[in-house]
Amino acid sequence: MKKVAIFGSTGSIGTQALSVIASNPRRVKAAVLTCKSRVDMLRNQIRRFRPEAVVVDRKEDAAELRREYRDLKVFYGADGLEEAAGAMDYDIFLNALVGIAGLRPTMAAIKRGAVTIALANKETLVTGGRLVMREAAASGVPVVPVDSEHSAVFQCLAGNQENSIRRILLTASGGPFRGYDRSRLESVTLGDALIHPTWKMGRKITVDSATLINKGFEVIEAKWLFDVDASCIEVAIHPQSIVHSLVEFEDGALLAQLGVSDMKAPISYAFSWPERWATDSRTLDLIGTRSLYFEEPAGEARRSLDMAYRVLREIQESEGDSSAVVLNGADEALVELFLAGKIPFVAILDTLEDLLDKHTPRGIESIEDIMDIDLEARTTVRERWGQHKI
Ligand code: NDP
Ligand code: MG
Repeated sequence: MKKVAIFGSTGSIGTQALSVIASNPRRVKAAVLTCKSRVDMLRNQIRRFRPEAVVVDRKEDAAELRREYRDLKVFYGADGLEEAAGAMDYDIFLNALVGIAGLRPTMAAIKRGAVTIALANKETLVTGGRLVMREAAASGVPVVPVDSEHSAVFQCLAGNQENSIRRILLTASGGPFRGYDRSRLESVTLGDALIHPTWKMGRKITVDSATLINKGFEVIEAKWLFDVDASCIEVAIHPQSIVHSLVEFEDGALLAQLGVSDMKAPISYAFSWPERWATDSRTLDLIGTRSLYFEEPAGEARRSLDMAYRVLREIQESEGDSSAVVLNGADEALVELFLAGKIPFVAILDTLEDLLDKHTPRGIESIEDIMDIDLEARTTVRERWGQHKI
């Protein structure tokens, strides 16, 4: 029986992970569950899955839960996430938190050791890829991606040598605004941005998929996970979301992983790896699909990707990792403002480009450096848009 810590158990990935656990009661068990503010949902999860520990955001909620569940260990706040990750007993650490809030807990789990990191929280690698992968290698801790594209690449690599990769091709659905030009994007609403054509996900990643900065983050995530040069990572628009990604090897062989759009598949694979477990996922009707199509990212779709490649150039040429932290932190703040109805959709990429232009890349020594640069980027965004009304 493997014990799983699910950080972010009340979110889109977290709840799907719990349904994978519910389908495999003899193989996996929830050991730690966490939420930020949806404490009532967490209470239901505690009753059903009986974890040994939970983490909530507020001290008052922690005190109430301690009164309600005498045997439960209850932690709270950002420090509580880190503490629980470092102190509790589990075999798999599923990071399903959203944003840079996932970075310190991942590091604490790696340092604890004897664990598999199942990583959905891409912001961990976008901001701290160099430090996190270095620590994981030093501690012998495997990082198994849950992001569907990276899970696909990881599966294609099984049994192959990383140094035989010629090209990684990440697929992208193109989001709800595929083919829109600038003038159409100027009038899109929050409601329009929150409807994703093929995946149902949390609000932040849904907006990131609409701007395509999500795919930019995934290019950076791939660089750290698979230790490849940015020139070997390409993106193809594939609106059907059937081919989850591909790897081309030195001998010209192109391996792909295909399936229906269901995040329970990569979650289950991360739990079962290196084995595979039966799931209740639908199977893909290949004959009914008839054809698969792909297109080059063009026009507005290129802007986010161009930013990611520019950041990677800075990382590769001068170890200027701070640009990726700025991109991530500013995006988190901008998406928050967009979700609150305070800025228009086009302001997200416009502001990101402007902040990158003004930023002088520098190296990063520690997690504290990353948190400082992140705070600076968020503060700049809030100062710029604080008084703005649309
Ligand atoms: P959700 O917003 O649905 O869930 C986020 C979870 O994290 C919730 O449990 C939430 O608690 C908790 N949380 C949010 N902010 C904080 C914080 N500051 N401190 C502590 N806990 C916090 O996100 P998703 O499940 O969609 O995404 C999770 C991660 O997985 C992201 O990094 C995303 O990019 C990645 N991912 C998601 C995919 C998907 O299909 N959803 C696909 C591929 C990658 P509460 O519920 O109380 O707010
Ligand atoms: Mg993805």
